[in-house]
Amino acid sequence: MIDFELSENIVKSREMIHMVGEQLMRPISREYDEREHEKPTEFLETMWKLSAGSSFGSDREADKKAAASGPRESNLASCVSIEELSWGDAGLYLSIPNPGLGGAAVLAAGTAEQKQRFLAPFKDGAPKWGAMAITEPHCGSDSAALQTTAVRDGDDWVLNGTKIYCTSGLMAAEKSDGFVVVWATVDKSAGRAGIKSFVVAAHTPGMKVIKVENKMGIRASDTAMIVFEDCRIPLDNILGSAEVQTGNEGFKGAMATFDATRPLVAASALGIGRAALDFAREALERAGVKIRYGAAQSTLTALERDFMEIESDLQAARLLTWRAAWMMDRGKRNNLEASMAKAKAGLAVTRVTQKAVEFLGPLGYSRKLLLEKWMRDAKINDIFEGTQQINMLIVARRILGYSSKELS
Ligand SMILES: Cc1cc2nc3c(=O)[nH]c(=O)nc-3n(C[C@H](O)[C@H](O)[C@H](O)COP(=O)(O)OP(=O)(O)OC[C@H]3O[C@@H](n4cnc5c(N)ncnc54)[C@H](O)[C@@H]3O)c2cc1C
Repeated sequence: MIDFELSENIVKSREMIHMVGEQLMRPISREYDEREHEKPTEFLETMWKLSAGSSFGSDREADKKAAASGPRESNLASCVSIEELSWGDAGLYLSIPNPGLGGAAVLAAGTAEQKQRFLAPFKDGAPKWGAMAITEPHCGSDSAALQTTAVRDGDDWVLNGTKIYCTSGLMAAEKSDGFVVVWATVDKSAGRAGIKSFVVAAHTPGMKVIKVENKMGIRASDTAMIVFEDCRIPLDNILGSAEVQTGNEGFKGAMATFDATRPLVAASALGIGRAALDFAREALERAGVKIRYGAAQSTLTALERDFMEIESDLQAARLLTWRAAWMMDRGKRNNLEASMAKAKAGLAVTRVTQKAVEFLGPLGYSRKLLLEKWMRDAKINDIFEGTQQINMLIVARRILGYSSKELS
């Protein structure tokens, strides 16, 4: 059975979150874009109170078990919520206290005990930020080339290396009760099979934020460079097995994090795109230009054709995104669909926001409106969590049945 209707629960929560976007985020959107690196404390405290007690993210094991007793909709609900929050402001959405990518990694690769240990405080209401540090000065897309090391020494792992562009890295590592999931190799000679992920609690000696980036967009979200120098963490902070297995099983486990997070990034892209599209439509209507849906193709103006094209692009991206989330809710493997959604949504939002700026001419380019900001905010969706090109590559590999060695 195919059903494109959202449940009543999701629709109700979407309406509530839309109000958060409209009333709490939009009014401070420009301010925290201008005041990069300053935290909207009041907003963060309100959001923390609103989210206290809620569950976080997708637990693959739980999804699989729950799917056996009937479909769930927590992943779909997350996508719908994130679209609304990002309609409000994508940078502020990313700065909301949340285990984020770090939490997704724990859920994807951690044991039941680790999920409880690292994520339960979030559910109990204590402040908690999470971050995930993979990218290094010499590797991003090719994460298998990372150089950060984890060496076992007695009852500890000792981490050494440099991580860059870590979203919420500052809050997770230094400014609050948080944690950073760090990817490191336990055996360089083993290649991908030697790569494992480790949870480093905030304020652990040897972990230091040395820079916070100045960015083009999502400026309310901190993006940190973190150095690990003889950073000691407990042995049981490794996610999954410490054993270097053949067949890259450990690395595959870590990569599975992205199957859960790419649909969420795609959902955020949809929110920015919809903000721009709604705004452009209203502005055009005020100027007496109404898009004539259903009119004969030969009578459409160039603007109408462009508008319909970007709108349908956004809708196609939404369907892919919801499908990737829907599959997770049913405990199905969604590696292909997650990359399709991320690639399509990144492309769609970049185009939608550029066109919206174009429709409004110089006003679109002015800082008087948020349109130019949405255009800047949009581009990151084509970069983090796997660039546009890398997600396309994954889609091609999965469809054609090639390994990463065969098609790179
Ligand atoms: C604001 C921001 C937040 C970020 N947050 C995080 C985070 O929280 N955690 C984290 O670990 N990282 C994070 N990143 C890093 C991000 O994931 C990487 O920048 C991204 O994966 C690209 O890696 P790279 O920078 O090394 O670029 P490169 O891999 O060097 O890519 C440069 C260009 O080459 C293209 N390219 C590379 N390989 C191929 C190929 N095989 N085929 C075709 N084209 C290719 C890419 O698509 C890109 O266009 C963030 C980045 C930014 C800007």
